[in-house]
This record gives sequence, C-alpha cells and structure tokens, in this order.
Amino acid sequence: MTERSTQTLVMKFGGTSVGTSEAMAQAAEIVKQARTEWGNVVVVTSAISGATNAMLDSATHAARGDLQVLLETERSLFARHQEISAAQISDPALRARVTQEISGLFASFGDLCRAISVLGEASPRALDAVASLGERLSVRLLAAVCQSHGVASQFVESTACVVTNNSFQNAHPDFDATTLATRATLKPLLNAGIVPVVTGFIGATPEGVVTTLGRGGSDYSAAILGAVLPADDVWIWTDVDGVMTADPRMVPNARTLPEITYAEIAELAYYGAKVLHPKTVRPVVEAGIGLRICNTFNPTHPGTRLVTNNKNGGAPNGDKVIKAVTAIRKQRLITIEGRGMLGVPGVAARTFAAVASTGTSVPLITQASSEQSICFAIPGDSADLVLAALAKVFAIELADHDIDQVWATEDVSIITVVGSGTRNTPVVPGQIFTRLGEIGVNVLAIAHGSSDVSISMVVESVHDADSVRALHDLIVK
Ligand code: ASP
Ligand code: MG
Repeated sequence: MTERSTQTLVMKFGGTSVGTSEAMAQAAEIVKQARTEWGNVVVVTSAISGATNAMLDSATHAARGDLQVLLETERSLFARHQEISAAQISDPALRARVTQEISGLFASFGDLCRAISVLGEASPRALDAVASLGERLSVRLLAAVCQSHGVASQFVESTACVVTNNSFQNAHPDFDATTLATRATLKPLLNAGIVPVVTGFIGATPEGVVTTLGRGGSDYSAAILGAVLPADDVWIWTDVDGVMTADPRMVPNARTLPEITYAEIAELAYYGAKVLHPKTVRPVVEAGIGLRICNTFNPTHPGTRLVTNNKNGGAPNGDKVIKAVTAIRKQRLITIEGRGMLGVPGVAARTFAAVASTGTSVPLITQASSEQSICFAIPGDSADLVLAALAKVFAIELADHDIDQVWATEDVSIITVVGSGTRNTPVVPGQIFTRLGEIGVNVLAIAHGSSDVSISMVVESVHDADSVRALHDLIVK
C-alpha cells in the first residue's frame, strides 16, 4: 500500500496579521489558499497586536495595588475580540460559543490580576499565566474565522504540544517530550483533514503549568512545531515584505532581500533587526526545514527565503557581499584600562563574570593587543550597575593603580554590516571604513562577528542614522 504523499506547511501569523477584523479575515484567506496547495497545514498565531503588552501591564500595575489599568484593558481588549468575532464569524452558534470562551478567559484574566494585587507581587509564574491569555484568546477567534471561510479548523493550546522546563518567561523546550506530545496532539487532526490553529508563545512544564518562551516567541513556537512534526516548510507571516536591507524608517531606499542565509539572519536578529525571534533559526536549520518570511498584507509578494548557502554571498568581487545594515541604539562602551593589566591573566574572566552577575548581556567586545585595555558595549541603562560591579571586583587593582580607570562613554550605537563573506572578502572592510571616513564619522570600537558574517562598529549616537545610510549605499550601488 502506498501512502498519500503529503507535504506539511506550518504558517505563523504575527500580532498585526490577526490584529483587526480585516487582518484576521485576510489570514483566514491565506490559510484557505495554502490548504489547496499543501497536504497538511498547521497554523500558529500570536495574540492580537498589543494584547500581551496590555495584559502584562495590567498585572504589573495590579502588583502595585492599581487595578485601574486592568479595568481599562478588560474593556478595550474584550471589545476588540468581540468586534472581530461579530464581523468575521458567520455561524451564530459558533460565534456564541467563541464569545462564551472569550468571556471565560477574560474572567481568568481579572481573577489573576486581582490575586496578584492581593499578594502585592507578580511572580514570573503568575506573569506567564497572564501573558498566555493573549494567544489562548486569539486561537479561538482565528480557528472560528477559518471555519467561516470554509476551512475545517480546530484551535489547540500548545500547552498540549510544547513541553518546557520551568524557566518562566523564557522557558526552554524539551524537544523529545515535545515531539511526542506534538505528534500525538496534531497528527490525528491533520489526518482528519483539519487545520490545527495553535497558540504561539506558550508551553507547559511536564506538570502542566503554563510557561512562555520569551517575548516575541511565537516565531520560535512555529519553528519548534515545524521541527518536531516535522514540516517541510515554515512560513512566518508578518506586516512587512520580508527581511530588508535596513530599517526603512532610517533608510528610505531600503529594499526586501529575496534571499538570506540562516547565519545572516541570526546575526541580524542579534543586532537589532526585529524580523524573527532569534531562537527561531536553530530548530529549522537542524531539522533541514525551509523558512520563509512573508507579508499578510501583500501575500503575492514572494517575501524572503532563508537559505543555507547564499548564491552571491562570499563572491570575491565584494559587490553583493553586504546584505544589510543595522543599528542598535542606546548602548554605552565600558573601558577598563591600566598598565598593570599587561600580561595579568584573569582580568577578562573577572570582568565578564562581574558583568554577568548584573544580568547584563554584552553585544560587543574588543581588547587591545597590548592588553592595556578591554572595551565592551552594554545597554545604556545597565551602565551604573555594571560600573558598580566592576569597581567592586577590581577594588584592589584600582587602589594599587594596576587598573587606572573603569569608565563609560555617553550613549553610542552599534552599527552592524551583515553579509556572508563580509570579513573575508578583502575589499569589504576597506569599503566600509572608507565610506565612514568620507562622511566624517569616527569609529570608537570595532568587532568582527564571531563568524564570517558581520562587522560591527561603535559610533557616537548622533552619527548612527548617517552611518547606516552611508553603509547602505554600498549595497544598492
Ligand atoms: N504575544 C507574544 C508577545 O507579544 C508572543 C509573540 O507575539 O510572538 O511577546
Ligand atoms: Mg513577532
């Protein structure tokens, strides 16, 4: 007996893709279309835009005894869900059922926030219970709207699929347990020709306690489900045409990249381009699954395809090597300097242990080969904390003048040029620094990405937009 060959597509819709009645109808049409082309379609959705923020905001205010935000959020968010339901769910019985379920979830929202206000404290576990409600609401709506568009669909809470540890607010999936749970939950639906509409963002511990995968984690959910099913392709539906060469608000002639490598997108996500949750790439690469980013509001646009190796990348002519330019703003550079540091082992280890103890992550590090200084970037608002931690750990060296000073710059920006071969294509670094020189920008620090995919430069914040635009010229030229 031969089995019907069926290709599986996982499609994830972001918050704006389901944020209004029109958007949700459009998402349902996209699902309907995909259903005609793919044997199996699994849908993953975010909460409707703004829902997670509003709910978490209510919870943090509740912890301070302020329930006003809760009242306003309950009213406005409930109204938005009801509006979509009224406009897009045609069957009155189904609409009534969805309204009832939505009301139940809003009742839990109120209960949770009031409990938080009584305790005067919102634990990470409680915050995850609150944050999970956004997706638990949106799946019910989207599944019903798909039904109304003639697609057999069923909402699924991913607490039944994604098994995680108990690191609330940033939970890590157990892939073996998740494989078993996901297949057991989704395969029967797929075999029955039903499109599961699954909550992004959330999972559960083996005991069944709700967790979340970190803010913006619905992309990651789609990648996890795609990897464990396994799917053939994962498509991320968002509100832009794909991955762009730069932030179009900063660079008016930025354009969509038809193709980008996994390594490049990982670098972009890390260096501030909010295209994909950074954890999304790994599960799909490891499972050998295709990934595509496309626009719900422009569905015929091909979007951006993620590829393993770039056709042009690494080409020796240096022409198409640079793919994108990003800026991370509001950073500060910390410098530790002193002649007594020369040849002393352990300064770097102690430095970064002290930084880590403050919970600060470091996007960029450089060290002079003379070993007389170490310099690294941190988010500006962590600077006071980090300086205090360093003053403490190096108290003796500072008193003995082995370390002369530990200091922070004013706000700076990290400009990153991303593209496979950026570093190893000889002309490219030259072009970059020449270009910055031409516009009179002084580079305060430089770091190469740990792979051959990026070069980062630290510049004064006043120069960041000019620098990004100037370097972007190297792409479009
Ligand atoms: N709703 C979640 C958030 O706002 C997850 C997501 O949208 O990806 O963080
Ligand atoms: Mg997102």
